[in-house]
Amino acid sequence: MNMISDPREHLVVIGNGMAGMRTVEELLKLPGGKRFRITVFGAEPHVNYNRIMLSSVLAGDKSIDEIVINSREWYEENEINLITGDAVKSIDRGARVVTSANGVTVPYDKLLLATGSRPPRPTYSGPGPAGRLRLP
Ligand SMILES: Cc1cc2nc3c(=O)[nH]c(=O)nc-3n(C[C@H](O)[C@H](O)[C@H](O)COP(=O)(O)OP(=O)(O)OC[C@H]3O[C@@H](n4cnc5c(N)ncnc54)[C@H](O)[C@@H]3O)c2cc1C
Repeated sequence: MNMISDPREHLVVIGNGMAGMRTVEELLKLPGGKRFRITVFGAEPHVNYNRIMLSSVLAGDKSIDEIVINSREWYEENEINLITGDAVKSIDRGARVVTSANGVTVPYDKLLLATGSRPPRPTYSGPGPAGRLRLP
């Protein structure tokens, strides 16, 4: 794909998880979805997998291949430029450019942040009775 002469708008997705890829799947079904060429950055080295089933992989009940949602072939078939194992580190909204930890710089027209969330961890004032945390 010749990026320079490609007239489509460039959608950059930060986060290759369930929410980000489901959004891309739905976008591709829309008539207007074809107006984008798409680049996806994923901090993890994997394709998109069902994170909810991760416990089954850790328990040895399933292989990582069995919980893959979108294979590498799916990205290729949909002409999605997938960059794995490389987290986006900065967004320059003025220049409309993202830069990754590996120094990859990609311009965008539309940017989708789908980086998940981290649960807040309560601070605690030290060990309480066995098996309990004492919150301040
Ligand atoms: C073991 C387990 C069991 C679960 N069970 C359930 C359940 O039963 N029901 C339920 O509703 N939910 C469950 N969840 C939660 C569910 O998995 C999450 O709600 C869901 O994965 C959120 O999807 P997401 O795409 O928003 O975020 P994530 O899955 O966190 O995906 C975000 C992705 O973005 C990537 N990323 C983050 N920052 C960057 C960056 N700067 N550059 C590039 N990539 C980046 C991350 O590496 C990650 O791959 C479970 C989670 C786990 C771990």
